[in-house]
Amino acid sequence: MSAAQFSWSPGKIPAELIEALSACKNPLILSHVYPDGDALGSAVSMHRLLQGLGKAPRTVMTHPVPEKLNFIDHDGVAEFLTENPHLNPEDLVAEADLIVVVDTSAPDRLGLMEPAVSAASIPKVCIDHHLEGAFSFFSSIWCEPDSPATGNLILEVFNEMGVEPDTNTAESLFVALATDTGWFRHSNAGYMAYQCAARLVKLGVEPDPVYNRIFQSFSHERTMALGDLLNRSTLCLEGKVLYSVFTEEIRSKRGVSMEDLDGFVDSLGQVKGTEIVFLVVEVGPMRFKVSLRSRGDVSVHAIASRFGGGGHAKAAGCRIEGAEEEVISKLLEACTDLLGDPAKGRA
Ligand code: 5GP
Ligand code: MN
Repeated sequence: MSAAQFSWSPGKIPAELIEALSACKNPLILSHVYPDGDALGSAVSMHRLLQGLGKAPRTVMTHPVPEKLNFIDHDGVAEFLTENPHLNPEDLVAEADLIVVVDTSAPDRLGLMEPAVSAASIPKVCIDHHLEGAFSFFSSIWCEPDSPATGNLILEVFNEMGVEPDTNTAESLFVALATDTGWFRHSNAGYMAYQCAARLVKLGVEPDPVYNRIFQSFSHERTMALGDLLNRSTLCLEGKVLYSVFTEEIRSKRGVSMEDLDGFVDSLGQVKGTEIVFLVVEVGPMRFKVSLRSRGDVSVHAIASRFGGGGHAKAAGCRIEGAEEEVISKLLEACTDLLGDPAKGRA
């Protein structure tokens, strides 16, 4: 754990951001494509905060979250573009007087919402913890790349606005933090993460059932698919890099969905001596989604950003098109470059 991560304490929330949240009447809350626990947990908590302050928020996600995470939207406030053809990005933006983006600061990560948001002349605020972002896109942004999650930043916004989260909100924020830190095991889980978790538990969260729901409720098919993936793993570059490829063929043979693959890359990262672990998932013909994890000093963000992706130093992702062998060789080349000259990207 680096000193920077351990000593991190939240920077100052921009006063204009709090003012914008206080002044709005019809905020539209958005997050990144393929939302995860942090995206949904942060968004629904922001929704409840603003609703409690008498506003009429709408929370719109581009895609659904993995089924097992749905419980953190206790009142079902989130709406999903891909599931509801009546939702129109332009109309949603036209009805809003403020756009609140959580857990991403990269406009292209807004997916189908991006053109309407870019064209909007209303204020846009952002709360995030990723490394890449277009700061000038927002009228006010609070981005803390050393923060373990966005959820704990939302908790700070509750504090700043003098609102105590209820137990459901504490649970949503706990899941945001717990999923982004791999249940407090990744190197981004330092003092702040544990302190925030303690506060949320004090507010009524019961960690054990939450853990069971998220990490011990997999199907047998998913377990078998994980076996296939582990069997096909390849160790290379003097044992410093481990990767595996999850093809459409294995996915259909095992009958698992894309969302079942959540966490697979972490199961790969258990081999001693590895510095970079990556998982390549076939998402279409000649199209691959790549998840990268650093177990050492190099920043996998440097690899992901080389292919137009992003994320964090220790966990990043990107999409690459091409034949499988070509994609792997491009990734291994990027790993070789980085391991040969870590100055190119240090975690
Ligand atoms: P995962 O591998 O779990 O999908 O993602 C790890 C981290 O990388 C997350 O913070 C996620 O937001 C980011 N990430 C994953 N894929 C992409 C991508 O295609 N573009 C960008 N900018 N970030 C990504
Ligand atoms: Mn996050």
